[in-house]
Amino acid sequence: MKSFLYSLLLLGFAIGGPKDNFALVIHGGAGTILKKNMTPEKEAAYRAKLEESLQAGYAVLNAGGSAMDAVEAAIHIMEDSPLFNAGKGAVFTNAGTNELDAAIMNGADLKAGAVAGVKTVKNPITVARKVMEETWHVLLAGEGADKFAEEQGLEIVDPKYFHTERRWKAIQKMKGNEEEKYGTVGCVALDKDGNIAAGTSTGGMTNKRWGRVGDVPIIGAGTYANNKTCAVSATGSGEYFIRAAVAHDISALMEYKRYSLKKASKKVIQKVGKLGGSGGVIAIDAKGNIAMPFNSKGMYRGYIKSDGKPVTLIYKNE
Ligand code: ASP
Repeated sequence: MKSFLYSLLLLGFAIGGPKDNFALVIHGGAGTILKKNMTPEKEAAYRAKLEESLQAGYAVLNAGGSAMDAVEAAIHIMEDSPLFNAGKGAVFTNAGTNELDAAIMNGADLKAGAVAGVKTVKNPITVARKVMEETWHVLLAGEGADKFAEEQGLEIVDPKYFHTERRWKAIQKMKGNEEEKYGTVGCVALDKDGNIAAGTSTGGMTNKRWGRVGDVPIIGAGTYANNKTCAVSATGSGEYFIRAAVAHDISALMEYKRYSLKKASKKVIQKVGKLGGSGGVIAIDAKGNIAMPFNSKGMYRGYIKSDGKPVTLIYKNE
């Protein structure tokens, strides 16, 4: 009888207690990222930053923190780096300004928050989270969103903070090769409680005009999370990702058609390709399966599982 009760206890722990299959996946943008255009120094710098981001997220998850906290922590590292098209390294608009988009979603309760076109918020992912937690809205745009961030006591910077030489040159030439155009960052995570979350942050597309908003802050396009299915963060030519409702479509294929995470995410990236779009997604499900399909030449990406060993990848056949 005693051993029966003991087994029941163990079973209960296995079902309801903390799990050790937690994991975190990140991306730092997709595009024409070719080894031949890379210097060893540049590649090392990207890998080091990706690894730092993975470690920041891992520290949260390993300590029993939530997937939401891990996503935010991992994205902060990339937003604060000039290497990526998010936060500090955001690309320029046609008017020579920087307008940032971000979104975050909690798979446990389908709560989400997003901002579009903010100009003074140092870490857009955090204001997206504030929108989710402190308001009953999902998406705030433009000046109102900047004002909200200030009211929330978030770090506000002079718009000059986002001025980096590299991005400025790209817009001056008005062409910016693919790699310069993209570089959005994102993260999906599964925590010890079995909850998943997704977040994405970007400066959008180089040379964008007329208050253009991409897929990133559109829930269901560039960002989505649902414990029942998956958490997804996308990167690529946003217009196509909006039209293909990418992130939600992956979730829907899993929910309605019982596709695996890998099959669903691959299928939807193919759909984007058929429309003429390029890019990729990172995705995770509540069992800790991960997928990172893309149809561009490369995608900065990486993952870390409970064993704590970070893996970073850049090119197609790695
Ligand atoms: N998807 C982003 C946008 O369209 C850009 C990117 O991922 O590079 O705004």
